[in-house]
Amino acid sequence: METKLQIKKITDWGIEIKSKPFIIAGPCSAETEEQLMESAKRIKKLGINILRAGIWKPRTRPNSFEGVGSIGLDWLKSVKKETGMLIATEVANFKHVYEALKAGIDILWIGARTTANPFAIQEIADVLKGLDIPVLVKNPVNPDIDLWIGAIERFQNAGLTNIGAIHRGFTGFEKSIFRNTPQWQIPIELKTRIPEITLICDPSHIAGNRELIQSLSQKAIDLNFDGLMIESHPNPDKAWSDAKQQITPGTLNEILQSLVIREEKPKGISLEAIEDLRYKIDDCDNELIEILEKRMNLVKAIGLYKKENNVTILQPGRWDLVLEKSIKKGLQKSLNKNFISDIFKTIHQESINKQTIIMNE
Ligand code: PEP
Ligand code: MN
Repeated sequence: METKLQIKKITDWGIEIKSKPFIIAGPCSAETEEQLMESAKRIKKLGINILRAGIWKPRTRPNSFEGVGSIGLDWLKSVKKETGMLIATEVANFKHVYEALKAGIDILWIGARTTANPFAIQEIADVLKGLDIPVLVKNPVNPDIDLWIGAIERFQNAGLTNIGAIHRGFTGFEKSIFRNTPQWQIPIELKTRIPEITLICDPSHIAGNRELIQSLSQKAIDLNFDGLMIESHPNPDKAWSDAKQQITPGTLNEILQSLVIREEKPKGISLEAIEDLRYKIDDCDNELIEILEKRMNLVKAIGLYKKENNVTILQPGRWDLVLEKSIKKGLQKSLNKNFISDIFKTIHQESINKQTIIMNE
């Protein structure tokens, strides 16, 4: 097993980071040289220095626009030369990587459909061996944290250290207000397992529509994400891909201005006040554990009685009553109905498990 190099924070990647959170913006796809140049110039005016544009577009269904292909690299090169912006594009196989590196692309990103394919990731990682180009790995389409981490590890094993992760939501079967459901607990878990990873939110692909981009961006900031990648097009309604979710640079500016920037440890702010509250929370958590222990001991005693007297474990009438009275009491204390119901269902399930063990002993 190779020893993995430590992943570096974006502030050590040797690229200029202009804001916290830092912003990557640009059209879903490069369509024409003019559209790309106009996007770049208008986005640069907002003080953003990293431009995104896809030229190879993996689409879920055939017969939709699959990107302009390699010719777009010449346009990206001209934009870089004329605006001085850093350029990010998506790569999905080794050929894309060769061409992108030759064209001087600054940042590569891996699309969600590619992250889900370890062979494709390995192929890309092999070509990048020993280079220090930044690679941003989108989450796989399915909510599998290990697949996401696995892709990151393949780049790490290839010696890359400038690796970031992009949260773009997960495909769901059920109808939802999101194009891809955020399932925030997954990027949070990623950050817990790889604390040094630079975490970027892509509200455009989570939302699938313009209306949700502001609130998703704010949520990402509240969760301490490092950056945002937002699709912006000079004429969104006429975009060749992802039209519904793209916003003009003007709207992008309004959204960015509206965001309340929150930091983990803002300068000059003492966290003593919350330290005190945290001690109190720790006390509450300890009490909760004690209470749960006490409750489970009672459950065991009842289990023994049921066993000796051949009574069924499940007593639906009793359980309905417990749930009903707990929800009622919870509501009186301003506790959310679903919250109480979820907690008591979990407790009840554990009680049944405990009694099942006793029955079978
Ligand atoms: C994109 O960024 O335009 C894209 C194709 O995204 P995803 O891989 O998240 O679908
Ligand atoms: Mn897109």
